[in-house]
Order: sequence, then structure tokens, then C-alpha cells
Amino acid sequence: ERTAAAYRSHLSRGRAALGELFGRELEQSATGAWVRTSRGRELLNCGGYGVLLMGARHPRVVAAVRTQLHTLPVSAKLLLEPSAAKAAAALTAVAPSTMDKVHFACSGAEAVETAIKLARTHGRTHLISATNGYHGKTLGALSVTARGVFQDPFRPLLSGVCHVPYGDPAALRKELAAHEGRAALILEPVQGEAGVILPPAGYLTEARRLCHEFGAFLILDEVQTGLGRLGHWWGADREQIVPDVLVVGKALGGGVMPVSAVIATESAFRAFDRDPYLHTSTFSASPLGMAAVRGALTAIEEGGLVEAARGLGERIRGELSLICKDILGTRVREVRGAGLLIGVEFSEPGLAADLLAELMAAGVIANHSLNSGQVLRLTPPAILDESEVDFLRGAFATAAKAVAA
Ligand code: PMP
Repeated sequence: ERTAAAYRSHLSRGRAALGELFGRELEQSATGAWVRTSRGRELLNCGGYGVLLMGARHPRVVAAVRTQLHTLPVSAKLLLEPSAAKAAAALTAVAPSTMDKVHFACSGAEAVETAIKLARTHGRTHLISATNGYHGKTLGALSVTARGVFQDPFRPLLSGVCHVPYGDPAALRKELAAHEGRAALILEPVQGEAGVILPPAGYLTEARRLCHEFGAFLILDEVQTGLGRLGHWWGADREQIVPDVLVVGKALGGGVMPVSAVIATESAFRAFDRDPYLHTSTFSASPLGMAAVRGALTAIEEGGLVEAARGLGERIRGELSLICKDILGTRVREVRGAGLLIGVEFSEPGLAADLLAELMAAGVIANHSLNSGQVLRLTPPAILDESEVDFLRGAFATAAKAVAA
């Protein structure tokens, strides 16, 4: 009851309806693409902020974690323990070429902190991030999460941070030139929380080129976009660029364990290699997390989930787009995305929250976008079968009609 009241007190009309549902209906168990609630309803999970690329409790992940649980769940840390090396080898095997170094952490924000610290070991202290970008809420990550409502109560944040408009190479060039040899740029290859914003073609290539030209460190935050979500292993692959550091999280733990990582080139990682105690954390590379990483990567590879995300994404975006045109007309500006990171942008605030609530009533969990009130986000798992895609289409049409009524 108190939870429901808290939701009601600060959420808009649509979100209040959602609060009611959240308040009364508990999430009880999950299998594959489905979540079972305390009312016995089965909801198709297209939310979870992108964690569940391989669905819930994927057998490969569960088996790997279970084996680890029954052998060595926690490391003594002073002996050599192989699970991290195995996970790192599996991860670098799928990483962009020349990115051979890995440091594991537990959350996306923590991995972003790690990336910022790596940049500092190279004297890159001036941080540049993109407007409306999202990189997490620990103090360093928050400093590059360009959104006043999240930042203002916690100032002062890191100094020497500036934000440039996403997708604008001219603004980027100006900022990089002003801080030659001292800057680190952190970017999402597709902005997730900003409302599924795709940069213009060539922007990432140009960002990479400009970072070379002005001696800047390039950090790609692929916490949401990495591991196949976009229908490529990495957002970086959409333009075949190699950053200095790539940040990964969410699906990395296979939807079972909280795991994140930075993947870096050898030169970017040098300071951490020289002194392994420079940046440490108790639960970094925990054996259970490492088992989950290996299970997750196996699940993605064996299941062909990168290709599946590409095919399913195209199909679902096409279908939702048609439904929106038919039922919501000009109230929907655009259905867009890459792979299975899908955004539905409305022409006025409030409608995204209303559709979110109606989707929940129709049996689909979706997400809003943390940095945009006008974009509903769907991040379906890449394991959907025909009947599940049909279910999503049907529920979306039902919800759209309810919003249109
Ligand atoms: N970076 C990006 C691109 C994200 O989407 C998120 C989470 N939405 C984060 C970082 C932060 O990850 P976490 O919530 O695990 O700290």
C-alpha cells in the first residue's frame, strides 16, 4: 500500500495507473520472455531496460551459475582463480579487434567510473558527453549524465565536464579542439534513455576520427546497446570503429547476475596492468558473476541472438509502426530504433506513460525513457518465437486503441 501511494504521489496520470498495477500485482517468477505475477497473469517482458536479451533464466546461464554456486561462489582473492580469466577471454573474443583488456565490475555506472579513471591515467581530465546521454548515477557517471534533474541535488559534481549536442560533429570538433590532448569523450552509439536516439550515419566514424586528431580518449558506453541488442555485437560495429574503452553491463550477466565491464585497448589499460591494486573492488569479477558472463556469451552465440535481434527488430518496428499509423495517427511521431532497442515517440507528453500503462494491462511490460517523457521504449528479448511476436502485436494494438479512445 505504501509503495502504491508513493508511486501515485509523484507520477502523472498514466504512470499513476501503472503505480496501481505495480502496487497490487507482484512480480513472482519469470521464464524466457514471460513474467508471472501474483494474480497469475503472464506478462511479456519487453522492459527490464535491456537486461534480458536472452530472456529470463536462460538454461545456459542458469547451468553455469549453478555449477559455480556449488563449487566456488566467492573467491579468496589472493590465489589465482580462473573464472575471471575465462570470462575475460570469452568477452574479448567477441569485442572489437585490438580490445584485449577487461576489468569487471557490478553495475553500468561503476564500469563508467572505471572508464573515466582510465582516461585520467592518460591525463584526459576534461570530460565531454552528449546532451541527454545517460551513463548512470554514481557521482562520476552522474557528472557525464547530462540531465539537470538528476544532477542538481548532488552538486558539486566532477569539474571539467561539458556536454555537446548528440550527433553534431561540428560542436564536437570545437570542444575537442579547445581541449587538445586533455579530453575524453563518452558517447552511447545509440542513446537509450534519451529516447532511442540514433545518430546520423557517419557520426561515430567522425567522432573516432576527431578523437584521434585532437588526442582525445574515446569511451563508448555500450551498457544498453552492446552484446547484440542492436543487431550487431556492438554499436561500434555499426560503423566499424574501435574506441579506446568500451563499457558493457546489463545483459552481460545473462539476466541472472549483476555484472559489468570495461573492455580496453592495451595502451588504454596500461596503468591498471602496471598496478593491479590501483582500481579494485571486493565483488569485482566475482566467480558467480563470471560464470554468468560465460553462460550469457554462450547463450548469445549458440542462439544466434545477434542476428535474431536484427531480424526481429526490423519486423517488430515495422509492425508497431503500422499499428501506430492506423490507430494513433499524428499522435505518434515515429517508431524507430536499431535491432531490439525500439522507441515510440509521441507528439505530446503523457501519451507515452498512458501507453505504458495500457500495455501493462494488455500483458506487455515496456519502459519509459529516463531522459525523455515522450518516448516509450521496448527492449524485447531476442528469443521471441512467432506466437510471442503475435502476442506483442496484438497487445500493442489493444493498448493503442485504449489510448486513442
Ligand atoms: N550507461 C547506459 C548507456 C545505460 O543505459 C545505463 C542504465 N540505464 C547505465 C550506463 C547505468 O547502468 P546501471 O544502472 O547498471 O548503473
